Amino acid sequence: MNLDHLLDRNVEWAQSKTRDDPTFFVRMAEQQSPKYLWIGCSDSRVTANDVLGLDPGEIFVHRNVANVAHTSDMNLLAVLEYAIDVLRVQHVIVCGHYGCGGIERALGDDRSALVDYWLQPIFMLYRRHRAMFDALPDRRAQVDRMCELNIEMQVRRVAAMPVVENAWSNGVPLHLHGWIYGMHDGLLRDLGPTLSSLAERDALVGIDQRVLEPVEPKSTLRRHAIEAFSALDPDNKA
Ligand SMILES: [Zn+2]
Repeated sequence: MNLDHLLDRNVEWAQSKTRDDPTFFVRMAEQQSPKYLWIGCSDSRVTANDVLGLDPGEIFVHRNVANVAHTSDMNLLAVLEYAIDVLRVQHVIVCGHYGCGGIERALGDDRSALVDYWLQPIFMLYRRHRAMFDALPDRRAQVDRMCELNIEMQVRRVAAMPVVENAWSNGVPLHLHGWIYGMHDGLLRDLGPTLSSLAERDALVGIDQRVLEPVEPKSTLRRHAIEAFSALDPDNKA
């Protein structure tokens, strides 16, 4: 069975791009100069360009199961080096999502597949903090909490990569971000940590401490609501 329906959609898409902007693909073919690197989950519902409303050429993308940064992953290391040293992106965004199937797997009992090696750091964090997870109301809350913690853990891991350390040591402007995406509302939430230097990285509390002191992930809508509320009542710390 062929995939003509997909190829037909491609033609429609290419024509829609050039309808308002006839030189779109001419520009695209010349060079790419994205300002951002996205490290996200392979989940088919979380595509960087779509959730950010960006065109081709605007974001460099690496995805794997549960957006994990392994120091032995040649794929990620090559992408990271190319993005920082050649493309000179200034922002690296580690973005996970609620309800992640990879995270759910890491919190389960089945440890029989290759993916369990991949998810091992998440499983180990879960084991160390089993009591905290068991105190959460249900499985969904446990998975979502680990989705958040995993992002914070992976930002810390990216911050420890030599290519990132070298960039910071050489005064290259480079900012790391931790975001989480809600598939139920299509909104990204800033979770942190946001890191721009070796000093900021070294001043971070460890991930084990972060497990006990969660950060509230905030979407831009929520942040604006909090700011508006504070403006009405400057003494309110909510
Ligand atoms: Zn996922």
